[in-house]
Amino acid sequence: MSGSPARLRRLHERWVFDRLRRGGSASRAELAKETGLSAPTVGKVVDALLGSGLVEEISPGGPSPDPGPAGGRPARPLRLNTTRLSLVTLQLGVRHTRLAALPIAGPEDEHWPLQFRTAGTRGGWLNHLRQAATRLNIHSPRVVMISTPGVVDERAGRVLLSPNLHWTERADLVADVSAIWSCPVGLVQEIRALALGHLEAEPRLEDFLLVDIGEGVGGAAVVDGKLYGGPLAISGEIGHTPVAGNDRLCGCGGVGCLETLISRSGLLEGWQGSQGASSRLSPAKAWTTMARAFQDKGVEPWLDERLHAAGSVIAGALNLLGLRKVVVTGAATELPACFVQRLAEWVERSAMWARFGQVHCQVAPRRRAMGLISAAIDRFVLPPQSWDARDDESTGPSTDVARREGNLAG
Ligand SMILES: [Zn+2]
Repeated sequence: MSGSPARLRRLHERWVFDRLRRGGSASRAELAKETGLSAPTVGKVVDALLGSGLVEEISPGGPSPDPGPAGGRPARPLRLNTTRLSLVTLQLGVRHTRLAALPIAGPEDEHWPLQFRTAGTRGGWLNHLRQAATRLNIHSPRVVMISTPGVVDERAGRVLLSPNLHWTERADLVADVSAIWSCPVGLVQEIRALALGHLEAEPRLEDFLLVDIGEGVGGAAVVDGKLYGGPLAISGEIGHTPVAGNDRLCGCGGVGCLETLISRSGLLEGWQGSQGASSRLSPAKAWTTMARAFQDKGVEPWLDERLHAAGSVIAGALNLLGLRKVVVTGAATELPACFVQRLAEWVERSAMWARFGQVHCQVAPRRRAMGLISAAIDRFVLPPQSWDARDDESTGPSTDVARREGNLAG
């Protein structure tokens, strides 16, 4: 290990922080033992992390608001800060924009206290965002992280293609949002944010492909404990894989994309078509009626055909990357179990892994806020290495920490 004292200190802070992040609360002695750092070094690192509000001490009467007095350090266990609001997470969705102020430890449950309808223009959206910002209970966040759909150049902070939200392609979201909160602002492609959030919630999970069904259909792979793909996230675009025999036009400009079959609106269109008559129900009402019909009738032929197509596309991604675990988020959590069960059967039929062992499909909640916090930590709060050069400090106290350091920069 080589490097300047400042770089070493930063690295040690990251090790201690990651130990608390992955392993929960710990005493200073436990931190020294588990990171391999000396007790005095851990003491200094913990003081720095307490001072910057990233960790807190747990006392019987609750967390102490400030670091202990110099010299008289109490031997209390430590954990990530659960009380001081330090980040703004912002979900720029096709229909709604949601925001929350959060501590570095993240939310216990995903909850977005403020939301507004996403406007169709940059100016309209910014007006709503400025108003919402005044109602958010944080004034000087350390970082603002934005999740956004489409093909996103995360390093440049630009949206390159957004089939369902075209105005973001011309907007400089980072500059616009920095003008509201004067702090660093980062963009994360929304499905990548979900995969990072899932990884954060289940750090011991094996590699997986996350498939999200929402207004669009997207994927993100975690391979070798890291998000697959470079900062230019033109990966995981499984929703835009054409399906033979499907001639529906897609927002991306293509024809026959999987997304037109199994996105929320695609499923609704399919169900309403199978009913024969045009429905006068609102989309929300139609959705719950459709879910009830799935419950009563199981997977009908029109749906089975679509799940077959989805299963083949997903299996193609698994076969390419050598994965055997699929995590389905989004609309699937609102549908009866038969939906994902049938999808899993089709995946299993085409996935090579099924010949040797089991392929697992599980439904999981969206953990977008945690994913945004994970990205904020890696890019701005305690970057393991610089965004560009990250191979010179790859040695760590454990392979787990070391391999996880490449998240998002990977
Ligand atoms: Zn498409």
